[in-house]
Amino acid sequence: MRIDLHAHSDVSDGTDDPAGLVAAAATAGLDVVALTDHDTMAGVDVAKIAGESAGVTVIRGVEITCEYESVTVHLLGLGCDPADDALALAMADVRQGRVLRLPRMVAALNAAGIGITEEDVMAQITGGATPGRPHVADAMVALGVVRDRQEAFDQWLDVGRPGYIGHVKIDLTRGIELVAAAGGASVLAHAWGRQSRRVLPAAVIAHLAAAGLDCLEVDHQLHDAETRAALREISAATGLVQTGSSDYHGTGKVNHDLGCNLTPESSFDAIRSLVEARGGRL
Ligand code: AMP
Ligand code: FE
Ligand code: FE
Ligand code: ZN
Repeated sequence: MRIDLHAHSDVSDGTDDPAGLVAAAATAGLDVVALTDHDTMAGVDVAKIAGESAGVTVIRGVEITCEYESVTVHLLGLGCDPADDALALAMADVRQGRVLRLPRMVAALNAAGIGITEEDVMAQITGGATPGRPHVADAMVALGVVRDRQEAFDQWLDVGRPGYIGHVKIDLTRGIELVAAAGGASVLAHAWGRQSRRVLPAAVIAHLAAAGLDCLEVDHQLHDAETRAALREISAATGLVQTGSSDYHGTGKVNHDLGCNLTPESSFDAIRSLVEARGGRL
């Protein structure tokens, strides 16, 4: 079984619409794919219907923007009930935070000499997504300021760069609780990619496991071989279920092809059991 538990559509910052993502998953030979858009499950129903005709099992997922010690940490929720009010409200808060941030980001970029408008950014959005940094990056590509999204992040949008403005994030332990209360299984996404590595040493991951975290994303493109080996040891020591995934964003991210990392079937079985026991909806 080829299982990929982390992928984005244009309902957030991917470039394929949900049905297109499922078609791409079938082409990539996946049996199971989780749609995990940022802070929304709005694409899941369409993806599930597409999965039925494409012969791909689509898992209801979401990637929640959390923070730990003021650093952004992404938490996947797999099998959460979309009708859960507490989770839905928390995610709406994050999405509103992105909307309210946009004028401030545009102002910061203009102050740094980049002529860009909110309309330029909104013109990049297709699937009803809330405007995030990747869409600002796309607008900068369209304006000819940078070559691709990565260059936009490296020069302008990453933490510490002139266009960086933070937005609403959910306390990580609260995120873990929200996912479980909504019937889902939580996965610490790319734990040692980017800034999060600094605030999530092994002892903190063990503490999070004790606080209810279920799974650890070990195999991810932001983790080199050494990092993966260390995270595998942590998952063995803590009992966290280890997952692997592409974090596919369509053409929005290179080197994240569907199926480039996979989740073991035994891990998927464990996640299924967790969600079933909690009354969630995979
Ligand atoms: P936002 O939550 O709107 O600030 O945007 C966060 C998204 O931007 C993440 O989900 C990633 O897809 C992308 N992103 C964040 N940091 C980087 C980076 N350094 N390089 C490329 N993409 C990034
Ligand atoms: Fe993203
Ligand atoms: Fe992420
Ligand atoms: Zn992601």
